[in-house]
Amino acid sequence: MEIKEYVKQQKEALIKEISELKVTPSFVIMQVNDDPASNAYIKGKIKDANEVGIQVELKKFPIDISEADLLKEIEKVNNDSRIHGLIVQMPLPKHINEEKVKLAVSPKKDIDGFHPLSSINPCTPKGIIDYLKSEHTDFVGKNAVVIGRSNIVGKPLAHLLLKENCNVTILHSKTKREDMERYIANADIIAIAIGRCEFLDDSFSYKPTATIVDVGINRTEEGLKGDAKRGLPVALQTPVPGGVGLLTRLSLLKNLLEAYHHEIKD
Ligand code: NAP
Repeated sequence: MEIKEYVKQQKEALIKEISELKVTPSFVIMQVNDDPASNAYIKGKIKDANEVGIQVELKKFPIDISEADLLKEIEKVNNDSRIHGLIVQMPLPKHINEEKVKLAVSPKKDIDGFHPLSSINPCTPKGIIDYLKSEHTDFVGKNAVVIGRSNIVGKPLAHLLLKENCNVTILHSKTKREDMERYIANADIIAIAIGRCEFLDDSFSYKPTATIVDVGINRTEEGLKGDAKRGLPVALQTPVPGGVGLLTRLSLLKNLLEAYHHEIKD
């Protein structure tokens, strides 16, 4: 099923599930920047939440808020049982330590899945695995190659693929071209998250049965493009735009519900 249709159906299921809950699930977004990309992401998150009946509050703080004051604000939300999730939109100003902030968010409310103690998975890898499962992807004993090793995509995605019993290889900027070609030619699942426009192209060989998951978002004069050239000779390739970005947004809503159910249970 196309990702757009899959997301539409998943959202319909969420709307039904949320409408039957006694307490409305809610989350807070904290923003300490005036970054246009962040504004667009936040707008998307608010729209998605409203669409499925989740309450969301944006708390925008002045750019010169001190780290200590921001941590106090986080603590307030951590202790407020009426709020089930908390996102601190990155990037933060230079005088605020991002790692400290990520660790300050209660693991129970960490719907981004950034906290090491959080049982919630980061949105992009979770969205990818959920979608591949819906496509009946065969994971067990398959060769999965993850290109890119960021903490928000590459590493957690490799971890989730390993949990599904794939043979996982992580490639990165120090991987030699000849090795990359060898791994890619032998891969059943290739996930690329490097931010290099159309890095995967016809110069590589692919298994015709392979799946390519294109996480990359590259802004070009011709519009948004992925890390993989469109139309590669494989069985399934996720598009950009209209691909992993939509899965990531869907995961945030699902993560909020997961946090909500934890909270209610407690
Ligand atoms: P990142 O922090 O920008 O790191 C890039 C990774 O790519 C690094 O691990 C780097 O290797 C590797 N890399 C760079 N050039 C490479 C090359 N030529 N060959 C092999 N590996 C290379 O990564 P990110 O935050 O995961 O973002 C990656 C891309 O995904 C970006 O385009 C971003 O916009 C997009 N993204 C999309 C979504 C979505 O929802 N669709 C979500 C998150 C990110 P080293 O570690 O060796 O430097």
